[in-house]
Amino acid sequence: MNFLLTSPAGQEALRTAYEDGVVPKCQCKASGVEMYISRRGNTYYLAKLPDSGFLHANDCPSGCAGGVISGLETYGHGALVYRDLKYRVFYTETRSFIDRLPTSCTIDGLLDLLIELAGMNTKYPNETSTWGTYFQKMREAAASIEVNGESLADRLFVPQSFDTESADEINAEIARRLDPASQVRWVCAPMKAVLSSKYGWLIKLKHLGRHFFWLSSQASRLSTVRSTNPIDMSAPPEHAMCLLGIKPGRDPFNFNVTEFAIRPTDASLFPSSDRLNGLLTFLLGQRHPVIRPLRYDAYPEHVMADFGLIQENAVIPAFRLTKEDPNNSDRRRLAYLIQRNADVFISEC
Ligand SMILES: [Zn+2]
Repeated sequence: MNFLLTSPAGQEALRTAYEDGVVPKCQCKASGVEMYISRRGNTYYLAKLPDSGFLHANDCPSGCAGGVISGLETYGHGALVYRDLKYRVFYTETRSFIDRLPTSCTIDGLLDLLIELAGMNTKYPNETSTWGTYFQKMREAAASIEVNGESLADRLFVPQSFDTESADEINAEIARRLDPASQVRWVCAPMKAVLSSKYGWLIKLKHLGRHFFWLSSQASRLSTVRSTNPIDMSAPPEHAMCLLGIKPGRDPFNFNVTEFAIRPTDASLFPSSDRLNGLLTFLLGQRHPVIRPLRYDAYPEHVMADFGLIQENAVIPAFRLTKEDPNNSDRRRLAYLIQRNADVFISEC
C-alpha cells in the first residue's frame, strides 16, 4: 500500500483512478471493502469511508469496532474495560469526548450495560418476559461490574419481583438494602409512573410500591441535558426501565434522586420505541431473534442500526429509513454502505 503514497508511479495510479471515479477496495477481506481516493493538495491517498471501520478485517489498519450494533464499542481508551471477567467502568456524572469517543461512562451507559448484560435487549419470537425473568440476571450483571473500583452489586439495589406470598421476606430485604446506613447509591427497576410534584417530579418504581423517589426540577434539567436519550418528563413513556442515583430523604420511604436514566421499553421490558414497533413485529414474524442496539454514551451524531438480526455466526444490522427521521441522510448513507459490502436489512418507508 505504501508505494501508492510514496512513489511517483503509485501517485500517478491513484490520480488516474481518482479522475476516473474508480471505487477502490481494501483487500483485507476476500470480498473487498469499499474505500475512496482522496486528494489533499497534490497528494492522493486511500481512505476508509466514514463509519466503515467495522467492515474491515480485525487486523486491517482500517479496521475498528463499529458500534453499529452496540454503543459499548464506541468508548474511548480506559472508559469501559473488560478484564478478568469484570467490566471495569470509569464513571463520571457528566459525559465528555475526545475525537468523538466518550472518555467515561455515565448513568446512561451504566443502565445500558446492565440491560445488555441481563439480556433484556434480546428478543426471541413468541417470547414474553417479565421482571421475574430479569431481576436475578440484572443482579448477576451488577456483580460483574466494577464502578471506579467498587463492586456495583454493593452500590446498586435491584428489587426482586414482588409477590404477596413472600411479601415479608421481600420487604425485609428492601428495608435492609435501602437503609440510609447501607452503601446503596443506585436503584434499578421498571418505571411505574412519573407524577408532577410541587418542586419537580415524583418517580414511582414497580416492585418498590411503598417508596417515593423525588426528583427536583433542577436535577431533572441537568440529567436531561446530559442524557444520550433525554426523556420528556411531562410525557413519560408507558413502560420504561429506570436507573436512579439516590440519597436518603427525611424518612425510610423517601429518597432524593440525584441523577437518572430512563429507557422506554415495551410491556415485556424490551427496549423499544413506537417508531420501531412495525419493523420489530415484522422481524419477529420472520422468526429472527432480534437484538436492540443500545447507545450507551455514544456521541450524539453516531449512527446505529435499529435492530440486529441474530444469525448463527453473525449479527446483521437492520435499519428503518424514513424521510421524517432527523438523522435520515447519515443513517441512509451507512445502511447502503453496509449493503454494498456486507449483509444488511433495510426497510424503506
Ligand atoms: Zn481493510
